[in-house]
Amino acid sequence: MSLVEEYRTKCPFCSVQDDVVLKRKSTKTAFFGDDSLFKLYYDEKSGRGLCPRGNFTLELLSSPYRLRKAELFGEECSLEEAIKGTVPEIKRIIKKKNNIAILISGNHTLEEAYLAKALSGELNTELLGLFPFEDEALLSVKNKFSFNSLSESDLVVSVGDVFSLSPTLARLILDARNKKRGNRLISLDIIKGRVSLFAEHFNVGPGYMSYFLSVLLNYLEGENKLKSDEAVAGVSALKIKELAEVLKNSENGQILFSNIYGHFANPYSIVGKLSRISEITENRFAVIPIGQNSLGVGRIIGDFNNKKILDSLKEKKIEGLIVLGGDPFEFIPKFEDIFGYLNFVLSTVFFKGSNSSECRIPSAFSFEKKGSFVSLEENIVNLGEPVSPVGDAISDGDFISDLLYHLTGAKTKARVSVPKVLPFIKETDSKKPFSITNKKYPFTAVGIGLPFHHDRGEITRRVKWNEEKNEPYVFINSDIVKELSLGNKVKIETSNGSSFFKIEDCSNLPFDIPRDIIAVPVHFLQSLQLFLCDYDSDGIISPGAEKARIVK
Ligand code: SF4
Repeated sequence: MSLVEEYRTKCPFCSVQDDVVLKRKSTKTAFFGDDSLFKLYYDEKSGRGLCPRGNFTLELLSSPYRLRKAELFGEECSLEEAIKGTVPEIKRIIKKKNNIAILISGNHTLEEAYLAKALSGELNTELLGLFPFEDEALLSVKNKFSFNSLSESDLVVSVGDVFSLSPTLARLILDARNKKRGNRLISLDIIKGRVSLFAEHFNVGPGYMSYFLSVLLNYLEGENKLKSDEAVAGVSALKIKELAEVLKNSENGQILFSNIYGHFANPYSIVGKLSRISEITENRFAVIPIGQNSLGVGRIIGDFNNKKILDSLKEKKIEGLIVLGGDPFEFIPKFEDIFGYLNFVLSTVFFKGSNSSECRIPSAFSFEKKGSFVSLEENIVNLGEPVSPVGDAISDGDFISDLLYHLTGAKTKARVSVPKVLPFIKETDSKKPFSITNKKYPFTAVGIGLPFHHDRGEITRRVKWNEEKNEPYVFINSDIVKELSLGNKVKIETSNGSSFFKIEDCSNLPFDIPRDIIAVPVHFLQSLQLFLCDYDSDGIISPGAEKARIVK
């Protein structure tokens, strides 16, 4: 037997799916020392290393906050007892069609997504939806992307802050820009981000990106000549024409789109327009989801169901909710109200929680399970050999199989074939929006991601690097902090809700925060409360920036 255990798997934090290697001296030897604990390595072949988030993979493995036992009505129990305890209620609920919804995170394997689809069939429901919600807007795009060709691109256009949300892509993008004189890196965003430090930055007003792209598209299609004194969403006609020329003249260009809650409004319309712009200008276009395998999971679901699920919850039309891979209290704003009337909530989760669904199943991270993903390059990739899950944690695939067995008496096997991209339905947003701010709300709250946090915190909130910042915080322009004599804490209010935030030192950000912007890292539930958790005119739950005010 080898004296070293080695597991080659994927980083659990984002869709770049960087390779990680977990190694330790075998625990089945007489000596137990420092070497017997897992250590984390990156795969040198990829040349991308790991970002700050990826480096915390080890912490997820050993975190004292991991849920190790199943819980039924707040009491610890065995997995068998938890499943058996829930089956009678599930059987009662599913007598009525579409009486239960299933939300599955994009961090699941293709096999698990197929099983979730089978489960929805058995539960007599079409209400099977994907979260993070903003990834649903990306399901009609088939990526044209490869890591190799990215570093060879003569033009990279980053729409959104790719460097913060997918940090290891930064090296390839900068390699591309530096490779040849004349190569260009363009950042197109509603505020400056990490990409803008290295790029020619085009700042489009918050809420206007879809409209801006429709103007650019019309210009490229020859339908709009653009008057020279015209400005669109803060960008002059001259700059728009320059952008169009750069896109047309590139020989090997790549457009990338990255979004996060509270950032871009109407992201489905945005990706629709970016797809068409990339076709006309013959550049490659790719989306970078937040979830590891959101493209694969969403395509297996095969429909845009989140709007139907939200309507059913709002109208109190359903009795049950199953959440696979997250605690609904941690990612659905105001879930307490919904929880109040649902008769049944089951969730598979990684960490202990303060709020309690009726049934909580300890879930395994990607490095603790087998299976396959769709990569950013549109290949089916294997997760590799898994580490043993902590405590009683099981993969959601195994959990769904057990649940199906108890419901039907039959064993269900996951089927895997290449899932199809969802066809584009007509996007609706290309009208010029109204200015976001007004007298009552003179600021704009913009959701941002940071390289050392992930998503909405359900994965990272209880890890060490978050402990010292355990209260939500925002970044406000330092002149505004002085002028308004703000203390350490402020209440931020939007028309959707309000929360208290610590004011974080802006010098911790490498880019400036404009006077009228409140930059809100969205990995705290309190941050999500500021943005409207409702579907937009394209039917997608992915709110954009929101007008806001500071209440002293
Ligand atoms: S960019 Fe960071 S978070 Fe994403 S896969 Fe790579 S190491 Fe993980």
